[in-house]
Amino acid sequence: MASKQGSKSKKSANSASSSKQVPETSVDRQTSPASWSGKSKSHQQYVYSESATVDADKLKENVTVTVRFRPLSPKEIRQGEEVAWYADGETVVRSEHNPSTAYAYDRVFGPTTTTRHVYDVAAQHVINGAMEGVNGTIFAYGVTSSGKTHTMHGDQRSPGIIPLAVKDAFSIIQETPSREFLLRVSYIEIYNEVVNDLLNPAGQNLRIREDRQGIFVEGVKEEVVLSPAHALSLIAAGEGIVKLIFV
Ligand code: ADP
Ligand code: MG
Repeated sequence: MASKQGSKSKKSANSASSSKQVPETSVDRQTSPASWSGKSKSHQQYVYSESATVDADKLKENVTVTVRFRPLSPKEIRQGEEVAWYADGETVVRSEHNPSTAYAYDRVFGPTTTTRHVYDVAAQHVINGAMEGVNGTIFAYGVTSSGKTHTMHGDQRSPGIIPLAVKDAFSIIQETPSREFLLRVSYIEIYNEVVNDLLNPAGQNLRIREDRQGIFVEGVKEEVVLSPAHALSLIAAGEGIVKLIFV
């Protein structure tokens, strides 16, 4: 999704930074996911958010890493799986088996945290920045079944980061009548290093290229969107193409 506006450049809107010092000496600062072991290893997912802007003549970047643990599933409980890592306070992930092993992130959430709260803390500022012209990226990372789809897509009961972001983007547009916005949606997947266009079945194995304006996916379909429902219907159509490719 892109927002287009005047040439105003802006300082980064983010406050949390990945270079934050952690007071506990026993805690390792992680900028990439912790390696973990233990019986239950699949219930944490990472939400990375990033925004960058050209500030005068130097590029400033701001990357934050947020971890949320999902609850053990009924199946995992039946199988006697146990929690191997837990959120110790707001920034530390600690091992149940070896409490001296811990990693610090910008923010860590336990299994009762709602996606809405994760969005408010980890993603909303990126959307706000994007609407003011600051490049931003939000992505979820984690092993299969860690909760990426739940976090990004969600469902009716618990909307994910994508619908919450789309709603906020359009709210900002409505609240800013003095500025003209152009929102375009494209939807791609990267699978086995291959980029496929989920809005266009013919757009397979697209190339990632760079020109003076930045990095782009060559030939990707970009649809101008005029409402949240319109944007979300494109995402839903893209899901159809995923099934088309893999079923
Ligand atoms: P992934 O996309 O990473 O493979 P999913 O999002 O499909 O994982 O999550 C796996 C299962 O766990 C799904 O049944 C999902 O509903 C459930 N789940 C994931 N995160 C949570 C959460 N925070 N709270 C409750 N259930 C969750
Ligand atoms: Mg998934």
